[in-house]
Amino acid sequence: PIYLDYAATTPMEPLVIKNMIKFLTLDGTFGNPASRSHQFGWKAEESVDIARNQIAELINADSREIVFTSGATESNNLAIKGISEFYKKKGNHIITSKTEHKAVLDTCRYLESKGVRITYLNPSKNGIINLKQFKQHICEKTILVSIMHVNNETGVIQDVKEISKICIKNNILFHVDATQSVGKLHIDLNKIKIDLMSFSAHKIYGPKGIGVLYVRRKPRVRLSAQIHGGGHERGMRSGTLPVHQIVGMGIACKLAKKNIDHDYAYLKDLRNYLWEGLKDIDEVYLNSNLKYGAPHILNVSFNYIEGESLIMALKDIAVSSGSACTSASLEPSYVLRALGLKDELAHSSIRFSIGRFTTKSEISYTIKTVHKAIDRLRNLSPLWEM
Ligand code: PLP
Repeated sequence: PIYLDYAATTPMEPLVIKNMIKFLTLDGTFGNPASRSHQFGWKAEESVDIARNQIAELINADSREIVFTSGATESNNLAIKGISEFYKKKGNHIITSKTEHKAVLDTCRYLESKGVRITYLNPSKNGIINLKQFKQHICEKTILVSIMHVNNETGVIQDVKEISKICIKNNILFHVDATQSVGKLHIDLNKIKIDLMSFSAHKIYGPKGIGVLYVRRKPRVRLSAQIHGGGHERGMRSGTLPVHQIVGMGIACKLAKKNIDHDYAYLKDLRNYLWEGLKDIDEVYLNSNLKYGAPHILNVSFNYIEGESLIMALKDIAVSSGSACTSASLEPSYVLRALGLKDELAHSSIRFSIGRFTTKSEISYTIKTVHKAIDRLRNLSPLWEM
């Protein structure tokens, strides 16, 4: 089978695994980094420090700004709930957008039930937030803006630099869900004032179950912990650190930094090649932006075809309709609907996402297989004859 669902998760780099297994057994560094009284703890702590640095270097941050979590879902929860709680005296209004990941949207819905006011911005047709409209929603009570960098369904890139400037001017904290952009696009947190940023290791060839919330130190951002206990991670997220996962994320980030330009060019070429192979199919619509989108995602709608039937017909090719988390439901993608797509087109969308291990011959095979499947399904469809 061919894997074209890298935006859902990636296989791990062998070098990541090789390093991780050194941190599990008695003859390795299995200790608890919080054990201050013996060398098993010290060694583990040292390894965590190294990884923290590797992760910070990828985004040009200080290692003390890295807070380990179980993944981007938890990071998004911690950022949004943590800020809302800590700054509640200052205000109770948060601005986000309709095309965010559910980990942001559902967290916001939860806060609404607690009396927080949330504005869900409607992106333009091309998926980009209209900055003028955004500014109009800012008020005295606005404490946080949460906008993702790269959309997980379409690959659309938001202008986080411009959004951050508006946030600075209005003295509002800015959270970015960068799960789909870290390791793929250059992010320099010294050059752009993002206050909080979420990402996960498993999207960049690292292990699942580990992620980071970046929390800015200058100027210092405070937040209320959501998981209480031993006071780990400077009190922001308690729990024994999973050293092997952290080491794995560190190596994954080191590799991402080293390969970022090569990966970008490689993925962009493959994605363009895939689109070239599909674009002549009748009634095919591109939901991604080839020029301004992230390089690893190609979202396409095939009119008069049910996305789910196409996925079934593609048997040996792993793709998704919408995001992995919501594809269990048969609802059309809320992201594509927010971009103004009609239900039929939103229903007929497929997300192809590629990665470092994707080959050109896999893409050639995919193009051929999609053509055959579309022909067959349309021949069966009474709507198509009309
Ligand atoms: N945010 C975005 C944009 C994502 O693509 C994902 C992954 O599905 C997440 C958050 C959640 O990440 P995780 O499953 O690692 O918690």
